[in-house]
Amino acid sequence: VALLGQFQKEQKDIILLTADFIHAFFQMPVRFLEGPESLLLDSKRIPAKARRHHPTTQDPQILTRYILDEVLKPLFPEDAFCLIAFTTEDLWPGPGWNFVFGEASLDDRVGIWSMYRNGDPAKSSEDFQLCLKRTVKTGTHEIAHLFGIHHCIFFECAMNGSNHRRESDLRPVWLCPVCLRKLAWGSTFDPQEWFRHLAELSDQLGWQEERAFFLESLHHWLATNDANTP
Ligand SMILES: [Zn+2]
Ligand SMILES: [Zn+2]
Repeated sequence: VALLGQFQKEQKDIILLTADFIHAFFQMPVRFLEGPESLLLDSKRIPAKARRHHPTTQDPQILTRYILDEVLKPLFPEDAFCLIAFTTEDLWPGPGWNFVFGEASLDDRVGIWSMYRNGDPAKSSEDFQLCLKRTVKTGTHEIAHLFGIHHCIFFECAMNGSNHRRESDLRPVWLCPVCLRKLAWGSTFDPQEWFRHLAELSDQLGWQEERAFFLESLHHWLATNDANTP
């Protein structure tokens, strides 16, 4: 994980919690480039060709392609599965676009996601929770794409496609059984650990609905798999 731009205290807290969630979700270690406290990438060093002011709102924006190709690719650690960056800056992906929440390059396994439009987490505890959930959902959904998992059409699932904020807000944080099996396929991934770890984290975060879902799934998983063993 890399960080780009200036983060307020609450935004940094959200990044640390999101990293915990990503760790549990993919059952892989999450490392910050140069430690979580360092703001690795100074957005002021982004050249003018990769910046603009939004034509109508005048919001300063950064070009996603530049970050993916010129900033993240050269930093890619040898032992990493993917390198993702979070930023507090607004992003746009190129001509004809207003803005984008983020963009990933599947071939290079790098991605950048913005917290700019996730709300102000310093405003209230509700805003903090909303911003956290949005950041967690974007992070896990997009990294799952990097694992080769496409949009889900089967059930309510973290991998459902979304065109609007409303749709992505409605998307759950969990994977449906089909997508969970895709993630577990060909790795040492243990679904039992997945449910347990995410139930624990949801509990810490005060996410009652999610906690209940993961616990129920864990019980169901244990019951079904006990029945299958002789
Ligand atoms: Zn997607
Ligand atoms: Zn699914």
